[in-house]
Amino acid sequence: MSFLPFYIPKRKNLNIVIVGGGYAGVSALTTFSRYMPNANITIVDPRTHHIKITHLHETFRYPLQDFMVPFSHLEKHFGCRHICAKLFITEDNIQQWNNDKFITINEEQIDFDYVLIASGASFGKIKPQNNTLDLNSFLTTSGTELLNSILEKTNQVEPIISVVGGGATGIQFLFEIAHFTKRKNIACRLQLINDDNRVLKRFPIGLSKYTEDKMSDLNISFYPNTYFKKQKKNSILLIEKETKNEFELPSSFTLFFIGNNLGNRLSANTFGQAVLNNQTLRHIFMAGDCSNYNSHGSNTMTAQSAVRKGRLAASNILRDSSVLKIFEPYLHPDLGYVISLGPEDAVGWIAKENNVVNGTPALLLKEMVESQYDLLLATGMDTYVM
Ligand SMILES: Cc1cc2nc3c(=O)[nH]c(=O)nc-3n(C[C@H](O)[C@H](O)[C@H](O)COP(=O)(O)OP(=O)(O)OC[C@H]3O[C@@H](n4cnc5c(N)ncnc54)[C@H](O)[C@@H]3O)c2cc1C
Repeated sequence: MSFLPFYIPKRKNLNIVIVGGGYAGVSALTTFSRYMPNANITIVDPRTHHIKITHLHETFRYPLQDFMVPFSHLEKHFGCRHICAKLFITEDNIQQWNNDKFITINEEQIDFDYVLIASGASFGKIKPQNNTLDLNSFLTTSGTELLNSILEKTNQVEPIISVVGGGATGIQFLFEIAHFTKRKNIACRLQLINDDNRVLKRFPIGLSKYTEDKMSDLNISFYPNTYFKKQKKNSILLIEKETKNEFELPSSFTLFFIGNNLGNRLSANTFGQAVLNNQTLRHIFMAGDCSNYNSHGSNTMTAQSAVRKGRLAASNILRDSSVLKIFEPYLHPDLGYVISLGPEDAVGWIAKENNVVNGTPALLLKEMVESQYDLLLATGMDTYVM
């Protein structure tokens, strides 16, 4: 068994419920399996598969199945149990779980010592309208299939696809679509609508400039400082940010990548313990996009932070159950971020925000980070140095 600092086991096994089997939940699972192989772990997740969401835009190149790992596989590999259910994560429920130390799921009472909530953040949704899609559709159907069905429905010689949202996700999808249509010789035009003056606004300006240059190389039209209002039959209604003037552009279809819903984030202390109404809940920990740690570590909604928070919360659960109750604080900084610009290019920063990388080095960096996660998932081997 591996050595975890400040952990002197008092019990051979704990009953642990992990709510949400995404990056944070799986990283916690691998941590438990490493330091307490006999723990009774139950993962509750409404999906049948763990989805590697950071690859969703690549489903224009690879089947969606390549990025899905059945929970049945994780059950066998890590000796845990998966219950397919969606829990209502309300303040009242969390308080009840902490007081009673059981959760009722599908009429079954699950007793636990600790719960780790790692339910992610929901993607921004738009009111269903004709000729529109948002990120949620890509969780169940590959990009290729979705785009082909969109193109089949339009009876135009050169359909125009509008993408709304110039953040990291919107950009990754935009470039994949541009390369996919080029590869398949599909006649179509792309336009990006963004409410800011530049793409990738939360990143250093060097990333935006590089990306916008590459967009113009691919003949992608860019409408900055513009709000989406409505997709009509063959056009899109937009609003100019400063003047509030409405205007229309030809558009056959609109895809929305408008970021995560920030409303459902819950607070945790620097050790990952949930905090409700200024009260620390001893038996409830949090990790991933659904959590906001009160600490100096990174609270960005990234797989990188989710994996680190999952690992830290699991380690602190083990320490809480041990002879010494010395916790580790969450101090993980953002180490960089790489955005893919289609199959052969990427842009990002590493170590310091002004350290911009692009092209092959950026692509290799992205692949390396993703391989680290694949290794963790396949073997439980943790190669993250920080
Ligand atoms: C297209 C795309 C590309 C991205 N690329 C990158 C990247 O390159 N690098 C990076 O660092 N980040 C990237 N991100 C962000 C990253 O994917 C998220 O930050 C990460 O998935 C967060 O992990 P998580 O475990 O908190 O949540 P998720 O991975 O979203 O997992 C949450 C899990 O909880 C389950 N769940 C939800 N609600 C409930 C409930 N009520 N009860 C039980 N279970 C529930 C869900 O089914 C899901 O399995 C990308 C995101 C997208 C969309």
